[in-house]
Amino acid sequence: MEEILKKIESEYGTPVYVYFEKEIKNRIKNVKEIFEGINLIPTFALKANNNPALIKIMYESGFGADIVTVGEYKGAEIAGVPKEKIVWNGNGKSKEDMKFLKDKIKYVNIDSFEEMELWKNIKTENIEFFLRVNPDVDAKTHPHISTGLKKNKFGIPAVKLEEFMNKYNDNRIKGIHFHIGSQITEISPFIDAFKIGLEISKKYNFKKINIGGGWGINYDGKEINLNEYKEKVIPILKYYDEVILELGRYIMGPSGILLLNITRVKQGIDKVFVVTNGGMNLLIRPVLYNAYHEPVFLNPTGKKAKIDIVGPLCESGDKLLWDKELPIPEENSLVYFKNAGAYGFSMSNNYNSTLKPAEVLITENEEIKLIRKRESYEDLYKNIIL
Ligand SMILES: *Cc1c(COP(=O)(O)O)cnc(C)c1O
Repeated sequence: MEEILKKIESEYGTPVYVYFEKEIKNRIKNVKEIFEGINLIPTFALKANNNPALIKIMYESGFGADIVTVGEYKGAEIAGVPKEKIVWNGNGKSKEDMKFLKDKIKYVNIDSFEEMELWKNIKTENIEFFLRVNPDVDAKTHPHISTGLKKNKFGIPAVKLEEFMNKYNDNRIKGIHFHIGSQITEISPFIDAFKIGLEISKKYNFKKINIGGGWGINYDGKEINLNEYKEKVIPILKYYDEVILELGRYIMGPSGILLLNITRVKQGIDKVFVVTNGGMNLLIRPVLYNAYHEPVFLNPTGKKAKIDIVGPLCESGDKLLWDKELPIPEENSLVYFKNAGAYGFSMSNNYNSTLKPAEVLITENEEIKLIRKRESYEDLYKNIIL
């Protein structure tokens, strides 16, 4: 690992996101195994990572695309994902986007009565509607990524579904959809939601369901137990003729790292600040969700200290990790952060006029492949008009 990362640094520099094809494919294999015996339409949620070179790998392994925006649709299109494998999600679909996408996708998850009002007057071909139901179930995850409670902005409240079905007798409605949150590490929220789903599905004779994503990965010791999922959740899904799945984090999170250079090791009063050449502009999850991404120093010294790993941006919130007892690394050496393949690059930004980093894939044959060039300063100002 160390050697290949040094090679990547010398060829493409840092900061750089590095992805592992082998891990992506392993995870896809796991998914297929868990859903054995079920007619599964698996999709990848592009909001977790929108690099078409990666989407293409997933598509070639049987995954479609879950998109929220036209921008994500374009990513799926570049990767070659066909219409039959594209699901469109979102609570704020605009009328213009509906007209643009309606014949380019197959599945739409309807978020509200108000959205359905608009679809009523839009002619579509072969589109299938799934009603996103808000079951008022606690996913027991971070509040920002919990979506299935009545206080959350998503979905049609389960208690209003009957009213919805009476109001819209639309034969494009084929089933319901749940996505109760992300980074869910317990099985019971899925069971609770899908049991509610089964009742609804039987009542309206829906033989299809879209079960969303949300599988939690191991950032800090806790992760979803897939054996338990297979044992307790899959039997509920056996009722359906077709199950659509939308996974983001589970596929890409552990399949990528963020590789940075340590610009400075600065002695503070009661801790050591390890200053890297990327911060919350590249990986915002630590400050946004209080998330933990395990760091690995390539050149640790023998000395330990209380450490903050911080970026170079001009605000104190710009940090990747804080108050951890760790070995002090050498200046001008490499550090990488694990589990950064999902919601890493896709949430990155240009704060402080920094450049978006390069992305590199380590292929199954251990070849290094550049899959996104580092942004240039020209890119940064290309839309400016003086
Ligand atoms: C974010 C999202 C997903 C993917 O969630 P993960 O937790 O990354 O698996 C799937 N479906 C919908 C509707 C989403 O909003």
